[in-house]
Amino acid sequence: MPAEVHVIDHPLVQHKLTLLRQKHISTSSFRDLVSEISLLLAYEVTRNLPLIETEVETPLAKAKGVLLEGKKIVLIPILRAGAGIVDGMLRILPSARVGHVGIYRDPETLGAVEYYHKMPGEMSGRDVIVVDPMLATGNSAIAAVDRVKSAQPKSIRFVCLVAAPEGLANFHESHPDVPLYTAAIDDHLDEHGYIVPGLGDAGDRLFGTK
Ligand code: URA
Repeated sequence: MPAEVHVIDHPLVQHKLTLLRQKHISTSSFRDLVSEISLLLAYEVTRNLPLIETEVETPLAKAKGVLLEGKKIVLIPILRAGAGIVDGMLRILPSARVGHVGIYRDPETLGAVEYYHKMPGEMSGRDVIVVDPMLATGNSAIAAVDRVKSAQPKSIRFVCLVAAPEGLANFHESHPDVPLYTAAIDDHLDEHGYIVPGLGDAGDRLFGTK
C-alpha cells in the first residue's frame, strides 16, 4: 500500500509554525501557537471522515444535512508532548474521546519504552487520531500505533507538527496503511535524535521544564 503523507501548506499553519520555531518565544506563546496549529491540523485531518445524511427542522422548514458517521472520534496523544496538541483539537472536536499512550525515548538507544496506556472503551468502530508534535526517529509513533492497532479501531491517522525524513521512512515501513499529516518535513536528525532545524524539545518548550 502506498504511504500517504499530507504536508499541510495552509498559510496560517505555515505562518504559525515559523513563529513557533523561534528560539526566544515564551512558554505561553509556544503553547498558544501549538494549540492554534493543532486546531488547523484537526480541520485537515478530518477532511475525509465519513458522513451520514440526515434531516433537521429549522424554524422555517425541514432541511437535508449531514452528520459525522459512527462513534465519537478518539484523540490519542503520545505523552508527554502530544498532550499539548489535545486542547486545540478539542476546540473543533469537542465530543472526541481522549486516550493516552505514555512513551519515552531511551536516551542511549533512542528506542521507545511504554510506561502508560489507557484507551476509551469500545474502540472498534472508532476513527482514531494519534498525535505527537515531533516525528523524529519515528520509534515512539510506531510503538503507539502498534498499541492502538491492537484495539482494532475503524481507522487510524497520525498527526505531527514537524517530521524528519528518517522518521517518516521508518514510520511508513512499519505502518504503510496509516495516513500521516504534518505541517513540515525538515532536513535531518542530529546525533541526539533532534530534528534539524526543528523547534527544539517540544515537551520542554510546552511545559517550561528547561
Ligand atoms: N522530540 C522533540 O521534542 N524534538 C525533537 O527535535 C525530536 C524529538
